[in-house]
Amino acid sequence: MLQFASYSIVFQEVPGEVTLAINLSGCPNRCKGCHSPHLQENTGRLLDSSALAELLEKYGSAITCVCFMGGDAAPDEVEQLAKFLRQKTGGRIKAAWYSGKPELPAGCSAESFSYIKLGSYIERLGGLDSAATNQRFYRIDNRQMADITKCFHKKCLPTNAT
Ligand code: SF4
Repeated sequence: MLQFASYSIVFQEVPGEVTLAINLSGCPNRCKGCHSPHLQENTGRLLDSSALAELLEKYGSAITCVCFMGGDAAPDEVEQLAKFLRQKTGGRIKAAWYSGKPELPAGCSAESFSYIKLGSYIERLGGLDSAATNQRFYRIDNRQMADITKCFHKKCLPTNAT
């Protein structure tokens, strides 16, 4: 079961997209120095297709992407919601996923998403905006995962640069 603690419209989490970021609670990862410890609790509202449809009704015309922030306790449900989003919007609104796992879980297909962030949070290495980060951010095109992590760094190239 997925629950969300909060959501907001953001501009930096997914390069080039206006994103509804949904902060999922119940995180199982327990990273040392966790930047959002409240997301380790099982709190908030149920996130299922009905709740997502409700958010799309409110914000769908203002966004180009929905990003599931977390959800590592139920990756199959995150993938199902990504598929629901694609079907419900005809692909107009892209699906992104910020996972704290180093790899996609077995049985999960990258093709269900347009963007995926992988990698645990390691305090001394920092998040995606740190040049030293262990985390990777991918854009999925034609079944290929392109690493575009550099787009989070200050001297980055444009998203579509090679
Ligand atoms: S994945 Fe994020 S929310 Fe979960 S423990 Fe690590 S830093 Fe905290």
